[in-house]
Amino acid sequence: MIRVTVWNEFIHEKKREEVKQVYPNGIHEVIADFLRCDDISVRCAALDEPECGLTREVVDSTDVMIWWGHCAHDKVPDEIAKRVQEAVLKGMGIIFLHSAHMSKPFHLLMGTSGTLGWHVDGDKERVWVCAPSSPIAKGLGRYFELPQEETYSEPFDIPEPDRLVFISWFASGEVFRSGCCYNRGRGKVFYFQPGHETCPTYYIPEVRTVIRNAVRWAAPEDRVEELVCPNVAPAEPCGV
Ligand code: ZN
Repeated sequence: MIRVTVWNEFIHEKKREEVKQVYPNGIHEVIADFLRCDDISVRCAALDEPECGLTREVVDSTDVMIWWGHCAHDKVPDEIAKRVQEAVLKGMGIIFLHSAHMSKPFHLLMGTSGTLGWHVDGDKERVWVCAPSSPIAKGLGRYFELPQEETYSEPFDIPEPDRLVFISWFASGEVFRSGCCYNRGRGKVFYFQPGHETCPTYYIPEVRTVIRNAVRWAAPEDRVEELVCPNVAPAEPCGV
């Protein structure tokens, strides 16, 4: 069983009518619903819960975390962001969605600013699969399309991905590295760009396929309890 925690700042859906119409119970509930299956269990956490819903117990019992945040990145305490970063270094997987490129855990794990260009004109997006052998692209064709999305554009200030799975083209001409894989410590990180809050992106079958695949890809293979520098026995006898 893969234990997933979907974290959402859950602010737009409560404050803005046009977002509430698309995600009446929050983006997190829609993602949780389509992920739940025989081998994936899901719980949700939100910013307004104690410790942002990310207590040590919750983080320690999460195999893969999904992160959606936009207008309240700075409201996540540094210690919680660090807790998430350390869990990844110990082996937890994490999937950053859409505007999570400016979240504190993303910055801690990438070490770059995460900045990019954007405009909201409801453009069509074509998501191209550039790594068809990646498990994250399983079940997809050469590309899939989103009828309307916020446009993100390069340059995207991220480290060179360990594997680039998707690159997107938008109807206004921009291109963007929209699916990026990283290894950080013992954990796996996937950034996936679609998911603007006023667009029904998380109802689109191909988007669901990608997130489901990414959860399975990011599940821990070799998690450790602590990050330590042990004093080790020499591998070869030494004469000192
Ligand atoms: Zn957006």
